[in-house]
Amino acid sequence: MNDIKTGRKILTDSFGRKIDYLRLSITDRCNLRCLYCMPPEGVDSISHNEILRFEELLKLCRIFADIGIDTVRVTGGEPLIRKGAVDFIRELKAINGIKRVTMTSNGVLLGEHLKELSRSELDAVNISLDTLDREKFSFLTRGGTLGNILSAIDLALELALEVKINCVPLRGFNEDDIPQIASLAKNRKITVRFIELMPLGAASSMKGIAETEVFTLIEKKFGCLEPLPFNYGSGPASYYTLDGFSGNIGIISAVSRRFCEKCNRLRLSASGALKPCLSGSISADLRGLLRNNASDENIADVIRKLAADKPAGHNFNFNDYSKKIEMFRIGG
Ligand code: SAM
Ligand code: SF4
Repeated sequence: MNDIKTGRKILTDSFGRKIDYLRLSITDRCNLRCLYCMPPEGVDSISHNEILRFEELLKLCRIFADIGIDTVRVTGGEPLIRKGAVDFIRELKAINGIKRVTMTSNGVLLGEHLKELSRSELDAVNISLDTLDREKFSFLTRGGTLGNILSAIDLALELALEVKINCVPLRGFNEDDIPQIASLAKNRKITVRFIELMPLGAASSMKGIAETEVFTLIEKKFGCLEPLPFNYGSGPASYYTLDGFSGNIGIISAVSRRFCEKCNRLRLSASGALKPCLSGSISADLRGLLRNNASDENIADVIRKLAADKPAGHNFNFNDYSKKIEMFRIGG
């Protein structure tokens, strides 16, 4: 199908959702070990040869762009620990049809790369930050230092990058931090988003906090959250304003109010597995196709078929499969 106005191809699934967003994990390695993302015993990283090379990723992204993807979010593991990530972003931006390239990062290495990232025309950065307390941060990330993440946020704003903060509320851990994290949007033009904990992998035995409670905690401190229009933002989050705030508040209600009706995305792991949904075992092996010299048309057909098979909604059903889902490999 083509867009009547632009003539560009449109990728849709069998429920009529437009699929225009790719989450691209470029590494499964990370410089932190968040309790809800990595298991305590650590993980076996996949071998160098199993990871898609940058030229393979670029080739795939050209195919994705040809069939209707116009936004790519670079994620990981921690994307900034892969050497060459910044140059890769510049090349991604140059692909015909890719309008927006964004990144999700834990922020640890962000400060030192921001100027170069801005020159590479990165459009936006999401920074994960679950607490502003140094000791809790170190505990949650198993040894991380909060360090200069806040100064990286301010530098990103100075460089005119769009900034979002992602915070995962965790029962018994950061309830008290929620208003404080929300307040980062008071004097800064940023969006602070609260993401309900998805009971996957390392998080399957942990407890998150439902959106209603997050709402209450914020409203108690800052007054009424006024909803922004339904179509504000491109993905599954709902956005709100608060009186006197320069920035916005977002809620990604992954569990208590399934966000799937607005889902517009596919996910590619660093080893080339393309998934139509965070949960569920369906995937396509794009690395195998690439390395067996499949034609671009053949790869495009596989992507279209996978998009068509996207389920109506996720199924975080606390079963054995959910426990095996590894967020640091899928990219969140
Ligand atoms: N390392 C980068 C970072 O932390 O931003 C990028 C990868 S990380 C897997 C992407 C996002 O997934 C982070 O914002 C993280 O908080 C979130 N995440 C990881 N496990 C999660 C879970 N079980 N439920 C909700 N969000 C999760
Ligand atoms: Fe690393 Fe991000 Fe997972 Fe934390 S959430 S362990 S920073 S991949």
